[in-house]
Amino acid sequence: MSNPSLRQRDAACIAEIGRLRFSPLSLVGGRGNRLIEEGGREVLDLSGSAGPAMLGYSHPAIVEAVEQSVRSMAGASLLLYPNEPAVSLAERLLALTPGTGERRVWFGHSGSDANDCALRVLAAATGRSRFISFIGSYHGNLSGSMGISGHTAMTHTLPRPGVLLLPYPDPYRPRFSAEEVLSLLDYQFETTCPPDQVAAVFIEPLMSDGGLIVPPPGFLKALEARCRRHGIRIVVDEVKVGLARSGLLHCFQHEGLTPDLVVFGKALGSGLPLSAVVGPSEIMDHAPAFALLTTAGNPVAAAAGNAALRTIETEGLVERSARIGKLFADGLRALGDRHEIIGDVRGRGLAIGVDLVEDRTTRAPVPATTTAKIIYRGYELGAAFTYVGLKANVLEFMPPLTLTEDEVAEGIAIVDRAMADVAAGKVSDADVASFMMW
Ligand code: PMP
Repeated sequence: MSNPSLRQRDAACIAEIGRLRFSPLSLVGGRGNRLIEEGGREVLDLSGSAGPAMLGYSHPAIVEAVEQSVRSMAGASLLLYPNEPAVSLAERLLALTPGTGERRVWFGHSGSDANDCALRVLAAATGRSRFISFIGSYHGNLSGSMGISGHTAMTHTLPRPGVLLLPYPDPYRPRFSAEEVLSLLDYQFETTCPPDQVAAVFIEPLMSDGGLIVPPPGFLKALEARCRRHGIRIVVDEVKVGLARSGLLHCFQHEGLTPDLVVFGKALGSGLPLSAVVGPSEIMDHAPAFALLTTAGNPVAAAAGNAALRTIETEGLVERSARIGKLFADGLRALGDRHEIIGDVRGRGLAIGVDLVEDRTTRAPVPATTTAKIIYRGYELGAAFTYVGLKANVLEFMPPLTLTEDEVAEGIAIVDRAMADVAAGKVSDADVASFMMW
């Protein structure tokens, strides 16, 4: 019998609860903006591994920083001793994140644990137990962060008691306008959700996993003002769209927000597990909340974080994300002339969504199988991307910020052909049966 493939071994030993597979791609390596699959074929990465591959793969800045740190300090715990990379990274994050007064940084390993930490410390420090977040939001996969999320993928999870989920106004499918959502919030405050019991609102400044939705102008600012009036803290979740991806260093800057807590993840470690919460010391120093993880702030991950933040500056990635992102989005938009299935192309910088519709007038989403087929065919043609959205109808493009102009053209040509081939029936339901996520 021939040797089983990596894909077969994966299916036989990696728990299904811990994997999302959008295509048959199996990874043996990565270089630059390409993934290398078993057999050696290179695939253009248009998903950035869902965020962490901000600098693509094997970026020399990350390799060097991690190599040096693993030789000198691997194993040291920030809980017990300060280490240079973690303290430097905290100093850097404080310098880069707008805010006033005494502030502190907490480190974790994932967006999920960072949002859990924020939730817990806010409840403890404010003495308030309720939270506000959004239908469609995704803040993580641990009990706390999952409990404040409103994603379809979580219909098997009970929401955390005391969480008020609001609709996130969607300019493309305006079922609830910004004004209506704010009015609903006012009504909740007057009736079942006394605002003085609410500790914080968790905000994605660009809703990512819920469908790459850019909020209507002024909505989040108005929400912030409503909340401030009642002493409700503002938590901005920058895990997926932060750190240059949106074309500004912080995505919340597009909205003019002044958050109390900012949550970072994914790109911060650029390949190593690393997340952070930045916030005022009156909250973050609330020691009884106790958010201790032995390996958080470990020097190897922190060294990667320092290298990632330095590289944003040295390679001008904020400007690059805005420029390459515009090129990419314009190219995808132009495909709309040939493909009726493209209802909307939106996003900021290199966080781009393509909303697929059955009919441009009704804007009815395509079935998830259609989205999956385009991704499958895209993979066959040599590009990796994924889908998001409560109806699984939005192609997500979150490539490394190091994507080149030539790679943009290559990616667009692949998406173009994938859409044409799917329309021509070249991918079957059976091909994608195992790639339907929800
Ligand atoms: N917050 C946001 C906005 C996210 O998109 C995600 C992951 N998609 C998370 C938090 C959770 O991050 P992680 O998977 O690293 O725990």
